[in-house]
Parts: sequence; structure tokens; C-alpha cells
Amino acid sequence: MRGQAPWICDNCGKKRESDVNHWAILIPETGAAVCILRIAKWDEGIAGCAGARHACGAECRNVLTERYFATGSFAIPKPAVVTYESRDVLDAALERARAVR
Ligand SMILES: [Zn+2]
Repeated sequence: MRGQAPWICDNCGKKRESDVNHWAILIPETGAAVCILRIAKWDEGIAGCAGARHACGAECRNVLTERYFATGSFAIPKPAVVTYESRDVLDAALERARAVR
């Protein structure tokens, strides 16, 4: 049970209204050697399972599933950070590429 706070889609942030029935719950299998994700039709009893994520429909369910399979996490991946060192390496490589032409 979850008191007054509504459930929120973990992809788009939409609030779950009481009259919708196309929500899904994604439950990652912990400790498995490969990514295993169980997907359940909405059920208040399992919506609060540890590690569970909530999706408002097929589109958000697919986004969360793809992200989990690609990264092993539901978190949105951060863009790669270009450090000064890697920028120097990149600049040097570009210089060499220009010199060859
Ligand atoms: Zn959503």
C-alpha cells in the first residue's frame, strides 16, 4: 500500500489515475548472470516490490525494457564526458588525419 501519493511512470513521469488498466510493472531479477526482467500487468499488491519500475503503457514499458537490457539499469545513461586529456588525444588524431591528406 502506498498512502496518498499516486504511482508515477518511471519513464515519462505521468501519474497513474485510478481508471487506467494498461499500466505495467517491471521487476528486474537480481543476481542473475544475464538481464532478466519480469513484466507484470498492473497489480497494487506488487507495484511496491523492491526494485520495481512502473510504466504507463506499451511505449514507456518498451523504453524501460530496452534501457534495462542495454545498460543493466533503468537510469538514463549520462553522455560521455570529454575530458581535457581525451580532447588532446582527439585533437592530435585529427591533426594527423589532416596531415595525411
Ligand atoms: Zn509513461
